[in-house]
Amino acid sequence: MTGSIAERIAHIRQQLPPGVRLIAVTKQVSVDAMREAYEAGVRDFGESQIQEAAAKQVHLQELPNLNWHLIGHLQANKAKKALEQFQWIHSCDSLKLAQRLNRLAAELSLKPHVCLQVKMLPDPNKYGWTVPELLADLSELDRCEALQIQGLMTILPLGLSPQESFDVFERTRDLASKIKQQNWQNLQMHELSMGMSGDYAIAVQAGATMVRLGQIIFGERMG
Ligand SMILES: *Cc1c(COP(=O)(O)O)cnc(C)c1O
Repeated sequence: MTGSIAERIAHIRQQLPPGVRLIAVTKQVSVDAMREAYEAGVRDFGESQIQEAAAKQVHLQELPNLNWHLIGHLQANKAKKALEQFQWIHSCDSLKLAQRLNRLAAELSLKPHVCLQVKMLPDPNKYGWTVPELLADLSELDRCEALQIQGLMTILPLGLSPQESFDVFERTRDLASKIKQQNWQNLQMHELSMGMSGDYAIAVQAGATMVRLGQIIFGERMG
């Protein structure tokens, strides 16, 4: 990998259509590197752990207009903290969690942005709804009025070919369109959070509106 963080971000931006939001995934990334990304125009940071994010938020609190996105699995007992720290929760992965977030958000007078994490292929190592499970839960999700459910999030299993990846991303987009056509009261379906460093170009071709990029900006993570 070559270039500075700012150069890499500029290069990625050139390839993203204007409507696609770049979320810089900063797990294991230093606050200094995050400042560089901010200077280069990044306003959206993605973290997978509440505690790691909290430590960084203390250091970066003077930076205006930052949006924090939770992208990792959320344990029920940390739901309140997640709501207090993140404007976006991409990893809402069960009805039970959604209902808990909804109840707590109402208590805290918050209106978090939420994506529903869906598993398009069987993958025992991943959280999320299967398609039939999600379709069955939609009416309950629509009642979670304190949540601004914005769309779907998906993570591909490892080892797919580019064509297979495209097909899975496209099926995710089709699922979002199908849900949108059902005209729910509260549930919105205009965001598709899909694509990581290795597959974001394919995800964008298939209609991603948010890409979550870590290593391609900040370099390889340890472990
Ligand atoms: C780590 C992570 C990313 C970023 O992965 P990279 O390969 O570093 O781009 C994106 N999404 C989720 C859910 C992640 O955990």
